[in-house]
Amino acid sequence: MDKDELVKIITKMVKETVAANDKLLVKVGVSGRHVHLSREHMDILFGKGALLTKKKDLMGGQFAAEECVTILGGKLSSMEGVRILGPLRKESQVELSKTDSIKLGLKAPTRESGQIKDSAPITLVGPKGAIALIEGCIVAKRHIHMSVEDAKKYSFENNQIVGVKVTGERGGLLGNVQIRIDPTYSLEMHIDTDEANAMEIKCGSLLEIVK
Ligand SMILES: [Zn+2]
Repeated sequence: MDKDELVKIITKMVKETVAANDKLLVKVGVSGRHVHLSREHMDILFGKGALLTKKKDLMGGQFAAEECVTILGGKLSSMEGVRILGPLRKESQVELSKTDSIKLGLKAPTRESGQIKDSAPITLVGPKGAIALIEGCIVAKRHIHMSVEDAKKYSFENNQIVGVKVTGERGGLLGNVQIRIDPTYSLEMHIDTDEANAMEIKCGSLLEIVK
């Protein structure tokens, strides 16, 4: 091998290494169906003044609670054991996968968490009562949580839309991924079970963000 060829090979290797190190990888959290409750609805479903019991801490001060409810959709088909995420919120909200929504006979729109205006109606049943929500059922829009520091470091803006590359046998590109920046967040991507199953993405997988 002559010198020029060797230099070419080494340059290529260095470039590839730099490119690999430049990749911004994000850890994935797969969200199963879950419910957020208001104080008023917690009272109706679990009794006046009832509190949520923390089962597992989640990012941004949220937690998975021990308490679960049954949800009922338009077809009168139901799903039991749907976990509540705490703490209590201003408004109740149910987050389902598209498959769940079809099974229940609902037309849940894909939305950012908290944007429930004109979303699908759904009924919640708890140990002490039931509540029919006129709106509140959504399919969560896939998103990436990011700290203010990371956003600055990697030049991202709040609500920026990016892509995420998935490798593997059923890999592809996930488009329309929303960046959400907050001081309480750490770098983590949230997708639902449909998205994870379709592309064989596991909880804890590292995926590449593509701007
Ligand atoms: Zn999230």
